[in-house]
Amino acid sequence: MEIINQEKIFDILEKTKDASQSRFEEIINKAKKIKSLDLEEVGILINISDEKLIQKMQQAAREIKMAIYGPRLVLFAPLYVSSFCINDCEYCGFHCRNATPRKKLSLDEVRQQVEILEDMGHKRLLLEFGEDPKENPIDYVTGVIKTIYATKKDRGSIRRVNVNIAATSVENYKKLKEAGIGTYQLFQETYHRPTYEKLHCGPKADYDRQITAMDHAFAGGIDDLGIGVLFGLYDWRFEVLSLAAHADYMEKTFGVGPHTISVPRFRPAPTVDFKSEHEVSDNDFLKLIAILRLAVPYTGMIMSTRESPEIRRQAFEIGISQTSAGSRTTPGGYNEKNKKEELAQFNLSDHRTLDEIVRDICKLGYLPSFCTACYRSGRTGDDFMKYAKAGTIQNFCQPNAISTFKEYLLDYATPETREVGEEVIKREIKKIKDARVRQKLEEKLSLIEKGKRDLYF
Ligand code: SAM
Ligand code: SF4
Repeated sequence: MEIINQEKIFDILEKTKDASQSRFEEIINKAKKIKSLDLEEVGILINISDEKLIQKMQQAAREIKMAIYGPRLVLFAPLYVSSFCINDCEYCGFHCRNATPRKKLSLDEVRQQVEILEDMGHKRLLLEFGEDPKENPIDYVTGVIKTIYATKKDRGSIRRVNVNIAATSVENYKKLKEAGIGTYQLFQETYHRPTYEKLHCGPKADYDRQITAMDHAFAGGIDDLGIGVLFGLYDWRFEVLSLAAHADYMEKTFGVGPHTISVPRFRPAPTVDFKSEHEVSDNDFLKLIAILRLAVPYTGMIMSTRESPEIRRQAFEIGISQTSAGSRTTPGGYNEKNKKEELAQFNLSDHRTLDEIVRDICKLGYLPSFCTACYRSGRTGDDFMKYAKAGTIQNFCQPNAISTFKEYLLDYATPETREVGEEVIKREIKKIKDARVRQKLEEKLSLIEKGKRDLYF
């Protein structure tokens, strides 16, 4: 089965241009029943330009998001480990033409960075490496993962390590799996082959290597896989339909679709003079997030601090289920003295601390979650999807979100955030329908008050 048939994608986009309103309504009704959409249906949504219908789409996305994820928003931080890179990706500050000195963390520095992140309250990290087989070989990557899991500061611990490294071999994916990787993330950047080939130079320029990476990772035993596109490289319509096609391919070939889809948008970066001909406006960006939420309802969606607080607030409502907070994009950047902008991979738009973001999302009605239980209980891949599709995942996610948030409030929150957060917890406990689950959670919360940590369902 071909992963992405470029002709077919263009063809669908063309053929779905003039769908009737009744066909549109049919699709929205299907999506509201929490059924994945086929490519033709996604094409029709992409081609909708009537503002009223876009509002309807976003309203449906809001409802679906609430039905599956409730008010939970999972928080994580990226950890930039090495900026050594032999590729020349036109959009990225780590491109190999950049003469600024590179930085790669020693295991001691990894420990220091992790302690800082633990002191903020983070429990889940996403590791970022440039591609450089000499500087960043797989044993270095697995050494970093093991070091992170072994680093405990006071009550802090990192409980899930997701990894974003260049496409690699099945053997190397097996090593990542053995080291305890959570999700393996790799973005296609653009699914449009000519654009992909134009914007990349070095081993990453091989489109086929990039597009088959998920197959190799799955063959290496990793079933939690995250895909994504860097919006702004090519027409977002083509990219969104291709993401849906890739998800469909994974579902059919591996028996499980992507665990997450990331939606980074191009940001200016030091030494990068790439000018986007396909800049995605805020309105189109929010529209495409809603479309993805309708198309693949069970797939988590990730948004980073590349986006401004205002866009993030709107995107959380209509689809995003995981988000980074308090991020730095320079290796070693969590040390104030290493916060050198010229070494950053790209510029950020949300500079608030984790505590400020937590408080903001509480006030907006969300329940911040630091939960990592599914991965640690072996609920990954199709096992996770079975629980998700049966709706029983709610019996895990809601109580685990509450108990991990309680830990955060006790150990790391400012008094102001603690006050707002405790109100959220009171409200959210009441929403647990199963009386047995609720009672068990209350027992766990009182143990947490007494100093116990890491109690999960
Ligand atoms: N080197 C690996 C790779 O390229 O897959 C690891 C990840 S790289 C550090 C993380 C991601 O950052 C890239 O996949 C790309 O989508 C994104 N990125 C690069 N330059 C960016 C920019 N200027 N603005 C926003 N995102 C960018
Ligand atoms: Fe290197 Fe990744 Fe940046 Fe490309 S996107 S230059 S591979 S770090």
